[in-house]
Amino acid sequence: DVIVIGSANVDYITYVPNLPRPGETVAGTHFETCFGGKGANQCLAAAKLGAKTALVAKVGQDATGDDYLTYLDKNGIIVEHVEQIKDQPTGLAQIAVSDDGENNIIIVAGANACMDGKAITRAKKLIQNSKVLLCQLETNVNATLCALRLFKGISIVNAAPVLKEMPPEIFSSPSIFCVNEVEAAQLTDRDEIKTLQDARAAAIDLIDKGANSVIITLGAQGAVYMSKDNKERCLHVPAEPVDHVVDTSGAGDAFIGALAYHLARFPNLPRERHIYAANSVAAHSIQHRGTQPSFPGEEKAHNNLCM
Ligand code: ADP
Repeated sequence: DVIVIGSANVDYITYVPNLPRPGETVAGTHFETCFGGKGANQCLAAAKLGAKTALVAKVGQDATGDDYLTYLDKNGIIVEHVEQIKDQPTGLAQIAVSDDGENNIIIVAGANACMDGKAITRAKKLIQNSKVLLCQLETNVNATLCALRLFKGISIVNAAPVLKEMPPEIFSSPSIFCVNEVEAAQLTDRDEIKTLQDARAAAIDLIDKGANSVIITLGAQGAVYMSKDNKERCLHVPAEPVDHVVDTSGAGDAFIGALAYHLARFPNLPRERHIYAANSVAAHSIQHRGTQPSFPGEEKAHNNLCM
């Protein structure tokens, strides 16, 4: 159903009372090692909901890479196109999470930097036979563009992280261009996006950059959607209310993985329904610790979107 081209990292997560300022040292309360990387995260979020998924990625030819492959395979993800690279470590992310659920993240690409057009050519059949193609910008953008060019189904680009040079095709190729409020602000030269009016204006700018349709996620405000066919209409889908936020890391990945799952299952329903379901899955994620461990299983899949 869903094919993901993207990164696989190991997350080293420390929990701290407050995020350290530059030069400051803070004592962490505990530490966890988890599998992460936006590509693998979003793939796993879709797989846990029940999608048939495949990942095109690179990991190190090391114990971490071996463990990652075993883990993805156990979760039912097709790993035929997850290649182990000699002389490169598996990508890693250092994540700090504060008591109030804020986070900051440092990434070392490692094997992820070896993603190339050859990997896409090798996976061509699998890509073309999928219903939904999902990409982020943590791996080589030219390889991503190759995949988008040969794909005919519903494609999503999650433009995270924002690149210094964004090729115009990255806006215009995918069916859906999806970013959070920070990325939307960066891409449209705004200081910040706070209100729905700001989000609407940013969505128009992204459509003007060539996007066919845009989703901007807005944390506790949910998400907005706009299609180039009707720039007058900025659809707001409110978030599912959450009383106690535990850990926001992975919220965006849960949202996008869930979006891909529901698009693959119900391609012809209005986007509003897909976004509603994605908000609900993301709301579950922020009430649980960690990134991948916070993604819900099939019980949270909205298999009744037709109601
Ligand atoms: P990211 O994780 O990339 O920063 P957002 O903060 O926009 O992305 O969150 C992604 C999605 O997670 C939102 O669209 C929403 O569905 C959900 N979400 C995030 N924060 C909250 C919150 N406080 N209450 C309810 N849902 C939330």
